[in-house]
Amino acid sequence: MRIVMLGPPGAGKGTQAKMLAEKLNVPHISTGDIFREAIRKKTDLGLLAKSFMDRGELVPDDVTMGIVKERISEPDCQKGFIFDGFPRTTAQAENLDGMLRNLGISLDLIVDIQVRDEEIVSRLENRRSCPACGMVYHLINNPPVESGLCDSCGELLVGRVDDTRQVILNRLKVYEEKTEPLKAYYSGKVETAQFDGAQEIGKVLEQIMEYLGRYQGKSEVL
Ligand code: ADP
Ligand code: ADP
Ligand code: ZN
Repeated sequence: MRIVMLGPPGAGKGTQAKMLAEKLNVPHISTGDIFREAIRKKTDLGLLAKSFMDRGELVPDDVTMGIVKERISEPDCQKGFIFDGFPRTTAQAENLDGMLRNLGISLDLIVDIQVRDEEIVSRLENRRSCPACGMVYHLINNPPVESGLCDSCGELLVGRVDDTRQVILNRLKVYEEKTEPLKAYYSGKVETAQFDGAQEIGKVLEQIMEYLGRYQGKSEVL
């Protein structure tokens, strides 16, 4: 199963992608997570990505495509993958199409999660994540069992540096300008399913899984 999670920052793409990846037994590929890991390790890629991410701007397409190309050539991607936060521009989507064509494969589904802008700002201001394993929490909607600590690995949770009001507003603008056009790009090309991301986390997952139920029995896909 090859899925792209689409939706504005804070829609719940990462939260859902992590759970779906486990259920479908395919890797969860978050370009944002890959960049943050590079920043933590202070690599050249990290240094470069940070200068864009801190302002809520997109990392240049050629850089992003380089890391995606490397990632999807790893063996675990043969059974499928869930892209989260990628593609983010039409150029990335076109480039991905070419890459998949060369591999003789194609995308199965776009999962489009929709949430209103006002909800997004409050969600991201309350987002906390685990720098070690990437688990994502929300101070009110989805708090860890023990305050401030990751449920799965015990690491101290952190807020993201780009989850400040000003940067969030810029990310929303960038989303509307550069990423939303992907809906038109994929329309008629790849099956797209829309979900109301304002519902509870479990409810959204349930609806996505119900939708995916139609693939059951097609063993080459699931
Ligand atoms: P994205 O990957 O789309 O940026 P995340 O999955 O990181 O979004 O979620 C953003 C924040 O919103 C996190 O704090 C997360 O815990 C919370 N969140 C995710 N889905 C929901 C939901 N359905 N209802 C309420 N809060 C949610
Ligand atoms: P969110 O889901 O909350 O928007 P992400 O973790 O997906 O956050 O992305 C954080 C930042 O990483 C983006 O604002 C952007 O600077 C960079 N980034 C992530 N994915 C891409 C991508 N596909 N293309 C360009 N920049 C990206
Ligand atoms: Zn953790």
